[in-house]
Order: sequence, then structure tokens, then C-alpha cells
Amino acid sequence: MAKKKVKNNPVIEKIISLSRRRGILFQSSEIYGSINAVYDYGPLGVELKRNVKDHWWKNIVTARENILGMDSAILMHPKVWEASGHIENFHDPMVDCKKCRKRFRVDNLQENTTHCPECNGELSDPKQFNLMFKTTLGSTEDSSQEIYLRPETAQGIFINFNNITSSNRVKLPFGIAQIGKAFRNEITTGNFIFRTREFEQMEMEFFIRPGENDKWLEYWKNERLNWYKSLGVTPEKLRLHPHSEDELAHYSKACYDIEYEFPFGFSELEGVADRGTFDLTQHINLSKKKLHYIDQQNGGEKIVPAVIETSAGIDRTVLTILADSYWEDEENNRTVMRFSPEIAPIKVAIFPLFNKQGMPKIARKIFDDLKFKISSFYDGGGSIGKRYRRQDEAGTPFCITVDHQSLDDKTVTIRERDSLKQERIAISKIESVINDKIQSS
Ligand code: ATP
Repeated sequence: MAKKKVKNNPVIEKIISLSRRRGILFQSSEIYGSINAVYDYGPLGVELKRNVKDHWWKNIVTARENILGMDSAILMHPKVWEASGHIENFHDPMVDCKKCRKRFRVDNLQENTTHCPECNGELSDPKQFNLMFKTTLGSTEDSSQEIYLRPETAQGIFINFNNITSSNRVKLPFGIAQIGKAFRNEITTGNFIFRTREFEQMEMEFFIRPGENDKWLEYWKNERLNWYKSLGVTPEKLRLHPHSEDELAHYSKACYDIEYEFPFGFSELEGVADRGTFDLTQHINLSKKKLHYIDQQNGGEKIVPAVIETSAGIDRTVLTILADSYWEDEENNRTVMRFSPEIAPIKVAIFPLFNKQGMPKIARKIFDDLKFKISSFYDGGGSIGKRYRRQDEAGTPFCITVDHQSLDDKTVTIRERDSLKQERIAISKIESVINDKIQSS
């Protein structure tokens, strides 16, 4: 249980330290020595994460008439995991080093590696590990049932196929989307929140006519790649990696990973997969229920739709944003998180230059007028330079300062985080100026 000191990439170490210092992320249960590969989001982190989720939800559900949202339970009937193949297949083959006792995923080692990459020791034969967390449902020994914490959100969508299609008027192609927690007892962890044991996914199952798979896989891989660009992620650091035959999961016919070039190399952010009719067919066979789409236009023909899935990890997206935004501005001796204004946890910070001469009153009024419309933060303490530096590290794109001149002419300065440009604007224009700047960024 106790935290083992993991050696991370040096840039990741800097991001971990900034995240802790600014209240973005903390290791879980720190006061008891921490628990490995589980993290808590602090005040800034929770806003950043929520903005990522909102951005996804708007893009996938709100903006598209043919995609519906849902929120299924974490606990499901154990048969779900039998049908999905997780009980049989959800294993990572692992090897142990006989000398230093470190454990490695076989697929992370170079082919035919026989010695430990860390200490050159001899490696054991590969062993299988099931990654699902078990728990029990019910309180008494004999009535309790062994169940699992879900290792993905997708199955919650498939098992509700009939509920959703019968309570909504849907026509192929259509999608069902959800955001939620998933749990995997990962063997190898590290790299901060890249691979954790409790994480959140944003998944969408897009139901199509069988035969249209290639067209829709092509469509969704591009849509999803563009979504990361719309978060402000550097386009050159994103790429699509098509899976070769031997990389495909048991359910998948074709798959693309969307990858980001993290400080530790290109790694997966999201899988866009052609799952064919695998999941619905499995649930039809095991539940003996008819999970069909009835095509009214073709005389009530029953179809088992094929599925293109987009499966993204929120925590990996947050790590991407943290890594992509981190900037040591040596010229100005500051560290800046260059979050795009749309996803920045705080969009505008409001300061009185001094805590006197009526400046706090004006600044407070500006804050109170803005706070329900634009995510705002009031800070009246410390030197103005220090306050700016704190907001640079928090990734706040705009700072408003109330100074002596504000008392005379009802204007303030607005400072831009990246360019450090300052301009004077009327207090009455603050909201529209900031909204224009967010729109044009
Ligand atoms: P990996 O091989 O990197 O563990 P995976 O191929 O098993 O990932 P999927 O099962 O395709 O991942 O899950 C879809 C997405 O969920 C991943 O692209 C990733 O963003 C996220 N994800 C999966 N496992 C984890 C984890 N342990 N921690 C954080 N995010 C995860």
C-alpha cells in the first residue's frame, strides 16, 4: 500500500511538483503514506477536468442530434463481463525480474528481451494477471455475490441498448455516449496520471449498418483527432497509430490509437475501434434478449448494428494538457501553464493594486458581477508581481488590476498571460472584451 518512490521523466517531475504546489493534483491518501497510482484532483484540477469533460460532452452529445447521453452504474451483473470477454481475456502478460523484483508488461519490452531493462537480471516466464477489481454485493456470506468494479464504461451502454432505443426515436446511424469512472488493477504504473488504477473515461458507441464500418471508422478517427486540436494541443505532437493485426483487442476488427508525444514518448490517449457486432451479439447470446434495431423503413427488418467506438481517458487528456501547456519562460523568470482560455480552470483573476483607497471595493464589485458568467478569482493579498506569477502557474489567461486611475475614470488594466501585453479597458467592457479574447484564441 505504501508509496514506492517512482522515478519519472524530469519534465513529468516538474509537472507533478507544480500540480501539487498549485492544487491541481495530489496523490491519494497522502497523510497515510499514499496509495500508488491513485490521485485526487484539487481545486484547480477539478475545474480543468470538468472543462475537458464539458468540452467533450458539448462536442459529442449537445452538438449532435443523433448521439444520446447516459450515465450507467459502476456495478453491473457479473455476466456482463463474461459476455464482454473481460473475464476470459482481460489480462496483461507480465514478467518479473528475478534479481531486482521489478515487474514489466511483456508488450512494453522489446521483442525477445530476456534480461531486465533496469538491472540486467534474468526475467521470469510471462504470467497472466486479471486487471479487474473484485468486490462483493450483499452483506451475508451465503447471499453475497462476487462482482467487479467496471474496467470500462462501454458495457453500460451495450446492456442498455434496448432501454435507450425503445424510449427514444433513433435511426441508424446513432450513438450513445457516457462519461464515468473505470477501475483497473494495473500492474505497471508510473508517469503520474498516465496509467492509474481508478480513472475516468469518455466513451461513445456509434451504431451503424454492418458494412459501413470503414467509412465511419475513418470519420470518427478524424473527428476525434481534431477534438484534441480544438483543446489547444500542439497538432505536431498528435498522431494516429493504426493497430497491426497482433495489436488488436479480442473484440476489434480495426483500431486507431490517437497518440500524444509526452515527455516520455508517444503514447495512447484514445482508441477509435471498429468493434463490429461483437458486443451486442455476445449480450444477445448470454442474456437471450433481443438486442436488435428494427428498421421501419425496410419493413421492420431486424438488424444487429455494427459499432464504432471512441474511447478516451480523461486523466490522460488532463496530463496531455498539463504537459503541452508547461512553459518555463526564462526571459521573464516565470513558469506558465499556457492553457487555452476555453479550458483554463480560472479565466480571469481580479486584483486591487493596493488594499486601500477604495480599490478592493471596486475589484470586489467586478468579481461579483463576473463570477457567474466567467470563471473568476479574486486575490487581494501579496505583491502584485507575486499575484501575477501565481496566476501564470495556474494558467489563468487574463488578469484585471484595479489601480489609482480606476478611481478616476472607471478603467482597469487587463494583462494577457502569454504575451504579457497590458491594455486599459472600461470596467463596463470587461465581460465583452474577455469573451472576445476567448472566442478569438
Ligand atoms: P493502455 O494499453 O495504455 O493501458 P488500453 O489500450 O488498455 O490502454 P483502452 O482499454 O483502449 O486502453 O481504454 C481506452 C482509454 O482509456 C485509453 O486510451 C486511455 O486513455 C484510458 N485508460 C485506459 N486505462 C487507463 C488507466 N489505467 N489509467 C488512465 N487511463 C486509462
